[in-house]
Amino acid sequence: MHVIYGGTFDPVHHGHLRMALEVGEALGVSQVNLVPSHIPPHRGDTGASAQQRLEMIRLAIAGESRLVLDEREVRREGASYTADTLRQLRQELGSEMPLVMVVGTDAFASFDRWRDWQQILQLAHIVVVQRPGAGLPEGSEAGRLVRDYQTASVRELQDNPAGRVMVLNPPLLDISATGIRERIAGGRSIRYLTPDAVWQRIETWALYRPPAGQG
Ligand code: ATP
Repeated sequence: MHVIYGGTFDPVHHGHLRMALEVGEALGVSQVNLVPSHIPPHRGDTGASAQQRLEMIRLAIAGESRLVLDEREVRREGASYTADTLRQLRQELGSEMPLVMVVGTDAFASFDRWRDWQQILQLAHIVVVQRPGAGLPEGSEAGRLVRDYQTASVRELQDNPAGRVMVLNPPLLDISATGIRERIAGGRSIRYLTPDAVWQRIETWALYRPPAGQG
């Protein structure tokens, strides 16, 4: 089973890292692939460059063999769409290998605005991680997909290449990249929210600070 977990990781933090391990253990896989996006189609400019976001993930997962960095979206030209990534992976993995995309409820809520979203379940399973305060809106396409394709069985994910939705509720850390960027902009510490190596690199690169004269 090949598991991918995408996001902007701007910056990567302990919430992402713990969630990846929790989901990997729940699914019984030996690796979870982190896939940072290049130009996020639904978001504005990011604070760090793509290369800086990659480097921070490398620092965060150093020595942790269960977490793997997949750089394909950053290397690809132009916007990164999940459907394109899944198509590419499907070609590499063949038609039989179970492919799983992990996504939080906050990101999944607007699933029907993703490019080619109708094809995504033909390419992969979706594991939706329940985030506090971010439910799936009543009557949303995301909610309908959960209702129509939901399984609680890891076995079913293993036995099919794609097409099932699993909702997981692992313990999560209440950390967001937005909260980290806001703390830095406000001159506060972000220590212990992200691995020390990432925290130090953010300091060295002076990332996420307001432009001179505004802070
Ligand atoms: P931002 O605050 O900039 O929106 P973020 O911290 O939510 O960033 P993203 O890179 O946007 O992180 O999210 C990537 C994925 O990680 C999403 O599916 C999101 O639901 C999930 N995620 C983010 N923070 C956490 C957390 N603390 N615990 C579990 N999952 C998280």
